[in-house]
Amino acid sequence: MVALVSALDRHARQVRFAPISTRGQRRIESARALLVGCGALGGHIAQSLVRAGIGELRLVDRDTVEETNLPRQVLFTEVQARLALPKALASVESLAPIGARTVLVPRVAHLDARLLDELGEGVDLVLDGTDNLETRYLLNDWCVARGVPWVYGGVVGASGLVLPVRPGTGACLACAFPTPPPAGTLPTCETAGVIQPAVALVAALQAACALRLLVDPEGTPSKLVEVDAWNLRVRELELPRDPDCRACARREFPHLADAAGPRATRLCGRNTVQVRGGAGRCDLPALAARLAGATRILASAPSLLRFEVDDLRLTVFADARALVEGTEDEARALAAYDRWIGA
Ligand SMILES: [Zn+2]
Repeated sequence: MVALVSALDRHARQVRFAPISTRGQRRIESARALLVGCGALGGHIAQSLVRAGIGELRLVDRDTVEETNLPRQVLFTEVQARLALPKALASVESLAPIGARTVLVPRVAHLDARLLDELGEGVDLVLDGTDNLETRYLLNDWCVARGVPWVYGGVVGASGLVLPVRPGTGACLACAFPTPPPAGTLPTCETAGVIQPAVALVAALQAACALRLLVDPEGTPSKLVEVDAWNLRVRELELPRDPDCRACARREFPHLADAAGPRATRLCGRNTVQVRGGAGRCDLPALAARLAGATRILASAPSLLRFEVDDLRLTVFADARALVEGTEDEARALAAYDRWIGA
């Protein structure tokens, strides 16, 4: 595609904003960021950064687009939901036409420490678009260990939290919340619901933090911000570094060690279990040929294979991971995986 105006002309309004100016814009254009999760928060963040002209955006997400995502997840369309496209690929499909200057690198996978090493190589910034604490603590450990800034964001109902983390300077996620709360004790978007304006608000602050961290890292405030879109409330919580923080003071990073994690994980409130494959990749065309006749193939694409067997629907990805829909029983999901896909 031929660009009609120079990058600086294109971003003239952003460049005119004095704290960014030409120097900041150049930094944004040469920056590489990793966005983890392309759903509700992630979609808004991606759109902001691509429109701002970021140089390279790596996007990782393990899920496929569903119709129930459309009320909040701005990058996705009805067609993508019908095709159950992997979110990372669907995001690139939507982002490319609005930001041809940004190099977009999608990855359809469950993020663990090993993959984070690969995707995080050489990035200036990591952005949290996830919906689970396990991955956030992994991001915090990885970023603190490597000195890479990252931006935490979380939303439920009409409110949310934002925390920019600059390792070595400001507080980290483990300073704010030393240990993850036990599973099931916090409200989630499944139990308490969520509204799109709250998502947009939290994601907008995350994207602003991202720009500031790229343009003016030293000036980026270190504070936890709580916003409430329903009651029009913003609360700032000064957050000093914990001098005894497990992560940024004692430099203990248990979440990097637990990389492998359990093989099956129940996806909260979705009647779905995710099963991790072995080390190798899955030959999807060969699997499709093997399954034809024995099961009902619902979708077959280079990136995934979806089929139905009894009352379960299995979606297998090229990295050998599968989503088993129709059960919350991890053992049953593992059994179906091993039976139809093979360990
Ligand atoms: Zn800390």
